[in-house]
Amino acid sequence: MLATAGVDIGSTTSKAVVMVDERIVSHVIGASSTNPSRTAEQIFEAALGQAGIARAEIACVVGTGYGRTRVTFADLDISEITCHGRGASFLHPAARTVLDIGGQDTKVISIDDRGNLLDFAMNDKCAAGTGRFLEAMARSLEMPVASMADEYFREGSPCTISSMCSVFAESEVINLIHDGVPLPCIVKGLLQSLANRVSAQVRRVGVTEQVVMTGGVAKNAGVRHALSAKLGVPVAVCAGIDPQVVGAVGAAVLAADQVMKRRGKG
Ligand code: ADP
Repeated sequence: MLATAGVDIGSTTSKAVVMVDERIVSHVIGASSTNPSRTAEQIFEAALGQAGIARAEIACVVGTGYGRTRVTFADLDISEITCHGRGASFLHPAARTVLDIGGQDTKVISIDDRGNLLDFAMNDKCAAGTGRFLEAMARSLEMPVASMADEYFREGSPCTISSMCSVFAESEVINLIHDGVPLPCIVKGLLQSLANRVSAQVRRVGVTEQVVMTGGVAKNAGVRHALSAKLGVPVAVCAGIDPQVVGAVGAAVLAADQVMKRRGKG
């Protein structure tokens, strides 16, 4: 039996995955905290508990994400760019462009047929185009982020959100609410403005099919639809797994690669 784990300490959420013989046996998502080492410990323990596997049985742990160097029990840490690429390729072998939208940054990752990194572009300078943008807008609209997709698919034409800055976009949204603009029109405008921004970033790397979305924002079918319309190609998610744990899956797969290398089979 080869058991490995991936622990992804993100800016807003932390994720842990346990894999046994190339099969995902548990995955856990929890909030990140101001103490990443403790969060990592807790999330790892939770994933082990869910898998019914003892810590001593795990041959290798890879830490990734914003707080990857704080996963003190990890055998090594690997950048989330590499982990999202590998995870998406493992779960969806046709993936060539991976679009990871998290809480604080957006990454476009170009990979080969084995999930190896070819190129990437990252936006971690501006909140527009990240999960934080959607969170701020959902707060102004007094609705949960998870409900935005429902509004997006309701009838209504999208309004134009002209501001490129999320702070100004928030004022625009408040004005639209005061003007009595229906919610679906505002949400459509917001998701399209996010898609405009992200698709410009995707084009810098190149739109090679298949495009696969990972990260928490990939749960929003409205964002996927808006991006697909903007890019002119389908935007898929990995089947049968929460897109938010794809980075942790990649970390667990890379941990298995390490063990195989150590055993001389890599
Ligand atoms: P990080 O690794 O940076 O913490 P994640 O990939 O874990 O990022 O994603 C977190 C982001 O996903 C948050 O901004 C959160 O608001 C967003 N998110 C979670 N669920 C949804 C959803 N259903 N629709 C849109 N955004 C979501």
